[in-house]
Amino acid sequence: MNRVKICKIFTFDAAHQLSGHKGKCANVHGHTYTLEVVVSGEPQGPEVPGEEGFVMDFGDLKEVVRSRIVDPLDHAFLAVGDEPFLDSLRAAGSKIAQLGFRTTAENLAMFIAFSLLQASIPVYSVKVWETPTSWAEVLSSEIPQDGPSYRKMGVCDVG
Ligand SMILES: [Zn+2]
Repeated sequence: MNRVKICKIFTFDAAHQLSGHKGKCANVHGHTYTLEVVVSGEPQGPEVPGEEGFVMDFGDLKEVVRSRIVDPLDHAFLAVGDEPFLDSLRAAGSKIAQLGFRTTAENLAMFIAFSLLQASIPVYSVKVWETPTSWAEVLSSEIPQDGPSYRKMGVCDVG
């Protein structure tokens, strides 16, 4: 058994607002998020031609994370769903990712890890950098089978 972790790093830009926050995050503002997705596994043996030595092909991981996470969130407003100005944003043709939870880095990390687990990616951990000095990390082994607790707050609609 030689388990190995591999990591792919992504960035995306998005806006959000943390209503009720005691500081300046109560304003609508944006971040360039950095996302680190770590996958853990045992490298394939010689019985899988072409895949030998890989935990997972970086290109395959990139494709899933791009299509399920980065593309829907990039240059979007990350909405809880009850913001009074959402209709105005929609009318203006702005991109909205309606997540159904308070869009803290902690909740985003849980959402991303759970979404990738649902896509059958053997995620070990997800780290979301909200600023160059602030990150939140979740280990997928610590996410309940029926999903993170934020899911009880609403529906996720990032499509
Ligand atoms: Zn923020």
